[in-house]
Amino acid sequence: MNVLILAEHENQKLKPSVAQLVSAAQCWKQTVHVLLVGNDLAAAAQSAAAITGVACVMCVEALHLQHPLAEDVANIIAGMGREYSVILAAHSAFGRNILPRAAALLDVAMVSNVVEIQAPATYVRPIYVGNVFATVRSNDPIQVVTLRASRFDMASTGNNAEIVNLAPPPASGKTRWLSEMRNQSDRPELGSASVVVSGGRSLGSAENFESVLAPLADKLHSALGATRSAVDAGFAPNDIQIGQTGTVVAPELYIAVGISGAVQHTAGMQDSKIVVAINHDPDATIFQMADYGLVADLFEAVPALTAALP
Ligand code: FAD
Repeated sequence: MNVLILAEHENQKLKPSVAQLVSAAQCWKQTVHVLLVGNDLAAAAQSAAAITGVACVMCVEALHLQHPLAEDVANIIAGMGREYSVILAAHSAFGRNILPRAAALLDVAMVSNVVEIQAPATYVRPIYVGNVFATVRSNDPIQVVTLRASRFDMASTGNNAEIVNLAPPPASGKTRWLSEMRNQSDRPELGSASVVVSGGRSLGSAENFESVLAPLADKLHSALGATRSAVDAGFAPNDIQIGQTGTVVAPELYIAVGISGAVQHTAGMQDSKIVVAINHDPDATIFQMADYGLVADLFEAVPALTAALP
């Protein structure tokens, strides 16, 4: 029985989470297969095959899978799932959309948002917005698990795994991809960025996000993040929201600017290695988790910090 990893990709480009899942999968000491579903997958398949620890990359390619829909991918996983004892995906919007459906089709429970694998089938996962960590054990014959990928090291590359093409099943036809809107940005991808500069409602406007926060992010070559309050106020786009209902980040450096530190926000950044907080309220909750805290008005401190950086 092997481990199957559902790979997240943008057809040509593999997401870094795949290498993190491969390293997490080593604890089962079983053969690791990577599944890619999409169209025009050659480049992504090569990247997956190069990850150390991968025995086989399986590609299911078709025009109707160019924008893989959860129903179609779940059906593909369910079709091959009984040959595996473990099925893994990243705990991203992609994985969270697909794996519960696959688990239901396979008639097993799924374990979500795992941050630590204590032993095969014994997992640690946050509950109550990350205030408590529960250790759970699954007795199902097939373990279906989403992992918080950033908690696991990246597997190295240099491998040359076999790449196999599987026949695509017809589209389920239950849903249809119509369109998607993406914000174009030259910044690093938020979920895997090593530095994140993040702003709160206190920025006051979208213009201030651009004129106060963006120059600091530019200097640090960092991703830009925001609280939900900032997003709801229209100061920042929805796709940069960090937190319980946004993206989960775990950068080397997280700079929280004018952010109170509500638990729903910190749930999305508490794995950051170093946290810097700038807030004019010395009692702000964010200081409790900050490695470095600056009690200051952000409109003075951030431009000064930006100017001081080379
Ligand atoms: P505030 O709480 O208003 O804090 C602003 C901070 O800025 C304050 O600490 C203040 O002292 C400081 N400040 C003000 N002016 C200045 C200045 N000039 N200089 C320096 N500091 C200044 N939130 C998320 O972020 N992500 C989520 O995913 C998320 N999901 C949620 C899910 C649910 C179900 C619920 C109920 C809430 C969720 N929230 C989420 C909202 C969350 O509870 C908080 O309301 C939100 O994080 C607060 O955002 P904020 O820190 O920008 O604003």
